[in-house]
Amino acid sequence: MDEQGQHSVEIRSLYLGGQWVEPRDPIYVIDPATGKVFAGVGTVRREGVARALADAQEAWPAWRRLTGKQRGEYLFRIADALAHYGPAIARTLTMENGKPLAQSEGEVAMSVDNLRWFAAEAQRAYGRIVPNQVPGKRHVVVRSPVGVVGAIAPWNFPLALAVRKVAPALAAGCPVLLKPASATPLTAVMLAEAIDHVGLPPGVFQLVAGRAKEIGAELLENPICRKITFTGSTEVGRQLIRGAGPQVKKLSLELGGHAPVLVFGDADLDQAVEGTLMAKFRNTGQSCIAANRVYVDRLIYDKFVSRLVARTEELKVGSGLDDGVEIGPLIDEDALSHALEQIEDAKQAGGTILCGGCRWVESKEGFFLEPTVLADVPPTARCMREETFAPVVPVAPFEEEDEVIAAANATDYGLAAYAFTRDLSRTWRLADALEAGTICINDSVPATSQCPFGGLKQSGWGRELGTEGLDAFLETKHLSIGVEA
Ligand code: NAP
Repeated sequence: MDEQGQHSVEIRSLYLGGQWVEPRDPIYVIDPATGKVFAGVGTVRREGVARALADAQEAWPAWRRLTGKQRGEYLFRIADALAHYGPAIARTLTMENGKPLAQSEGEVAMSVDNLRWFAAEAQRAYGRIVPNQVPGKRHVVVRSPVGVVGAIAPWNFPLALAVRKVAPALAAGCPVLLKPASATPLTAVMLAEAIDHVGLPPGVFQLVAGRAKEIGAELLENPICRKITFTGSTEVGRQLIRGAGPQVKKLSLELGGHAPVLVFGDADLDQAVEGTLMAKFRNTGQSCIAANRVYVDRLIYDKFVSRLVARTEELKVGSGLDDGVEIGPLIDEDALSHALEQIEDAKQAGGTILCGGCRWVESKEGFFLEPTVLADVPPTARCMREETFAPVVPVAPFEEEDEVIAAANATDYGLAAYAFTRDLSRTWRLADALEAGTICINDSVPATSQCPFGGLKQSGWGRELGTEGLDAFLETKHLSIGVEA
């Protein structure tokens, strides 16, 4: 740090109006594995966001006039550029977010696939012809782009969750302003580089960063912005809902989760243990669909728990850049404290720590937590009611299917639910009864480009991915035509 309190690190630029702008008032980015600043990104104030919205509005008519195929061709080229720069992007992603490098590479691959899906979907914004009830009329339903979009992304999947907004917005014919999380703006800069590389018309895609409240307020209050698409906490989602009221601004919201895992007595035990590990520990437990609480049939409870503990103890913790690491650091010190508080609370409530439970001390600087398994955790414990966002697995036994379904649904969230069973009839009963936008049976990595993703209850409004992902950026118009017989 120099005498003015500035860090001597590279400061990346924002991408506004088709140009890289001189960086001002940077946000500094910390590597959560070391706790050290390693880069920065310039920011804009509210008037800069207003200018970007005006530029986007100017770019809109020409962008929407292109055919879906032409817009799709841009997206295919962005996908190719992202794939080309993939190794560098994955490394940066690991440095700013902490996740193991193999998972960052997976996130880049998923983002490329999402882009290619929406590149093709751009040609399929179908309307329909509706038979007339009255003679001398014809009815057509047509789709048109919603307009300028503000996209707000979180830090936990900073590339994929930005792409899931930007790609369908562009495919639908909407210019978009992307605001990344302040903890992870660098992958968004690299996405902007890929977009710049393909020569998208100026103003069609722009990158803004800075004070979240200020940027959010401009997107909410400026009538040019027709829609906000947001992934993040339920609390900020609520703030956006309140702020959207005066202009009745359209919102898509992907919010928090509290996914249950139900392991039935007829499950394949190895599959259930491995699936639970994946559903819990991917992204170091910092996923909105992370398994938050695990309910196991009492018949197999002891066997399941001992295997889960044995496998959890094998997980390699460390910097995401080191070979073979499966558990990286948490995003910051607050996230670590939050997890430690939940562990302490579970202990006080009557749960038992079977492994982990403490800060991982082999690193003095990073924000690491030992992967933790807690047994016999009562439903009153905070980790059974609140999002944990850390590598902590609380387990509890159950006796009856109805009882465990009721426990699974006893939450305000409804993003994902997992179950392990080999009973087909039970699978259908679970599909009907579980209150979640994604239900995974004998599966722990459900998200895929061609299927909708989103939440019930307080987990959000709307869906990303699938055909629904494009719909989110289209308006529906009814064209009613009087015709002479
Ligand atoms: P967050 O605090 O809500 O932040 C998310 C984004 O919103 C960031 O870009 C943040 O900017 C911005 N933001 C914060 N306050 C704002 C405001 N008043 N107006 C406009 N934007 C604002 O959430 P997070 O801690 O980054 O992410 C974790 C949460 O996201 C968890 O609850 C997780 O479950 C949820 N999530 C949901 C999904 C899903 O698909 N449903 C996926 C991933 C994560 P700054 O970073 O600058 O504060």
